[in-house]
Amino acid sequence: MIQCKKRMKVNDDMEKRTWNQFTIKNGNKSLVLETIIKHSPISRADIANNTGLNKGTVSSQVIELLQEELIYERGPGQSSGGRRPVMLHFNQKAGYSIGIDIGVNYILGILTDLEGNICGESSLPLHNLEFANIINQLLGIIDSLVAAAPPSRYGIVGIGIGVPGSVSKCGQILLAPNLGWKEFDLKSLLEEKYDCPIIIENEANAGAYGEKTFGSGRNESDIVYISVGVGIGVGLILNDQLYRGTNGFAGEMGHMTIEVNGTTCRCGNEGCWELYASEQALKSYSQQLNISSELDELDKIIELAEEGCETAIAAFQTLGEYLGTGIINIINSFNPKQVIIGNRIAKAKKWIEQPLRSKTTNNSLWFQQNDLEIDFSKLTTHSTALGVSAFVFEGFLKSNIPTSVPVNN
Ligand SMILES: [Zn+2]
Repeated sequence: MIQCKKRMKVNDDMEKRTWNQFTIKNGNKSLVLETIIKHSPISRADIANNTGLNKGTVSSQVIELLQEELIYERGPGQSSGGRRPVMLHFNQKAGYSIGIDIGVNYILGILTDLEGNICGESSLPLHNLEFANIINQLLGIIDSLVAAAPPSRYGIVGIGIGVPGSVSKCGQILLAPNLGWKEFDLKSLLEEKYDCPIIIENEANAGAYGEKTFGSGRNESDIVYISVGVGIGVGLILNDQLYRGTNGFAGEMGHMTIEVNGTTCRCGNEGCWELYASEQALKSYSQQLNISSELDELDKIIELAEEGCETAIAAFQTLGEYLGTGIINIINSFNPKQVIIGNRIAKAKKWIEQPLRSKTTNNSLWFQQNDLEIDFSKLTTHSTALGVSAFVFEGFLKSNIPTSVPVNN
C-alpha cells in the first residue's frame, strides 16, 4: 500500500499556512477577490455594499490585489450620482493552468486561464499502453502546454491530471485497471519535474466538476456524471459538492455487476457494467466490421451508422440499452436531478439516446420523478480536462500562493 508521506507533509504545510492565511485580513482579501471575480467589472463602493466590509478595508485589500496583478483597474464606470467610479476587473491572464485527461486510447491536455477559457490544446491517440510510453506522451503534452503559455505574472499555477482509476484522497492512484496501474505515485513523479502544485483526480470526478462548473450541470445541485470511454467512471455531485467517499473512490460503478456469470473483468469481478456499455463493448458488438486498429474505431462506427450500416446501428442499440440498465441502478441509488453522459461516447448521442431512454423509461421505479433530466455532455471530450484545470486554478486563487513554473518568453 502506498503511504501518503509526501502528501501528508504538503497537507501539514497547508494546515500551517491555513492558520496564517485565515487571519481576518486574508479572509477579507479572499472575499474581495471572490467578489471581483463574480461581478467583474465592479467598483470599490459596490464591493463594500456586496460584502459588508467597510470602504477602508476594501481599499487596502484592492491595493494588495492590484500589486499582485490579480486584478486591474479600468474605467470609469456608471455613476450612481457622484463622480464616475474606476472599475475593477479580474485579471484572468495573471496565470495559466494545465488540465490533462488520460483516457485509455488518448491523452488530451488543455491550457486554460484563471477563468477556464481554453488558450491551448494538445492531444495524442494512445495505442501503446506500456508504462514508459504513456509517461513519455504525458510529459510531452505537458511540456508543449508549458511552452505555449503566454508570459504572465504567475506562469503555470499548477497541473491537474484526470486518470481512469481510483485515486486516494491524498492523490495516489490506487488502481487504474485499463492502464495496468496499481498503487502508482504519479504525483511525486511529476512533482520532481515541475515546480508547481500537482493534482491527481479520478477522471469522472473531474468530469463531473467540469460539467458543474462550465457545462450542462451548472444549474443543478445533484448530478450524476457518467464518463463513457474505454471504461466507465461515475462522478457524483451531491448537494453541490463532489462526493468522493471515505477513501476517495466512490463512483467506481463501471465495475458494478450487470450480468451474473458475465465476462471476467480486469478488476477481478465478473459481468462489470463497463464490459457491456463502453467503447470496449462497442468494439466487441461490431467485431464483424473488421475495423483497422489504425483508425479511431468509435469515429469509424459512427460514420458507418451514418451510412446505414445495420451492424453499426445494432451495436449502438445494444450499447445504449446496457447504458440505460446501469443508469437505472444509479438513479435508484441516488435520486439525482440530472444525469449527464459524457466523454467520447457522447459523440454517438444520435445512435444511443433512443435505446437508452426507452430502457430507462420502461424499466425504472422513478417514473414518479418527472423532473429527472438525462442529458449528454455539452463539453463532450473536454469535461475532465476542464474540471481538473478548474481544481488547479481555484486552488491557486484560494491559497493566493504564487508558486509557479516561470515562463520567460
Ligand atoms: Zn470490473
